[in-house]
Amino acid sequence: MAEVTFIGLGNMGLPMAMNLLKEGHSVTGFDLAEDQVKILTDAGGKSTNNINKTIQTADSVITMLPSGKIVKSVYLGDDGIINNAPENLLLIDSSTIDVETARDVSKEAVNKNLKIVDAPVSGGVGGAQAGTLTFMVGGDKGAFNSAKEFLDIMGGNIIYAGLSGNGQAAKICNNMLLGISMIGTAEAFNLAENLGLDAQTFFDISSTASGQCWSMTSYCPVPGPVPSSPANNDYQPGFSSALMLKDLRLSQEAASMTTSSTPLGANATSIYEEIENLGHENIDFSGVIKLLQNKLK
Ligand code: NAD
Repeated sequence: MAEVTFIGLGNMGLPMAMNLLKEGHSVTGFDLAEDQVKILTDAGGKSTNNINKTIQTADSVITMLPSGKIVKSVYLGDDGIINNAPENLLLIDSSTIDVETARDVSKEAVNKNLKIVDAPVSGGVGGAQAGTLTFMVGGDKGAFNSAKEFLDIMGGNIIYAGLSGNGQAAKICNNMLLGISMIGTAEAFNLAENLGLDAQTFFDISSTASGQCWSMTSYCPVPGPVPSSPANNDYQPGFSSALMLKDLRLSQEAASMTTSSTPLGANATSIYEEIENLGHENIDFSGVIKLLQNKLK
């Protein structure tokens, strides 16, 4: 049994922490939202109001936070985890953040003889609950090997992506592709309908032809062909347009930092920005089809 300090018990973090608890680990949680912490303590976890004290006896710290700025505030600075951690403590940041911040935090941690990985996830809240997340992991191989014991409990697919920041790089490149492919799929279904082609018929053809992709076969943006897709549930997320926009913006920051040309990524970002400007950022990202159909007011 290991001592785990878990920071950020939101939609993703709470079920991840619960899975560690179920596996017999001792989990101490911290979140600004006390009701989230209470769910963990009611299930047998512990809470803390003094992270720097708690980590003195911890084997690992896991963070699942909203942004790079918050990750920096938790790890860096005089009161941050890195400055107060005992030597060799294992740090796992599973938040989706920019590559640069992940590398900055990692550098500080390694300078203090701590083990650290960036380990963002794919698989959403359902995957977090089921313990089937995909983890894309960047960092030193030794740190990866230490983290794997915990990641194996929370995930089904743990992939080493190389040095620090590479987990985040994999995550934002994947999600840029996902945003682009969802818009493309939605455009195709919308055009098919406007041409008088039934959605199911188009699905039957395209899902076995060269247009096939995950956005079509697992997450189809029209109701009917894939019964589990959010389109069948009035576009309730799933994966919200707000989270897609967050990841697309990270991809565009990274593209600009590396002078990479990503015209479709840029276009996808503006399309999801339009959804946000219309106040519909909480719909599932497959709801982009409603934007194309002029149904988002
Ligand atoms: P969330 O907003 O539900 O949870 C974040 C939690 O962090 C909240 O409970 C908040 O109170 C807490 N928090 C914020 N600042 C804090 C601080 N300084 N100290 C302690 N707690 C703090 O978000 P989420 O959906 O759980 O997502 C978490 C991360 O996972 C994000 O980086 C997101 O991009 C990524 N992610 C989310 C999904 C998804 O489907 N929700 C999928 C993949 C990746």
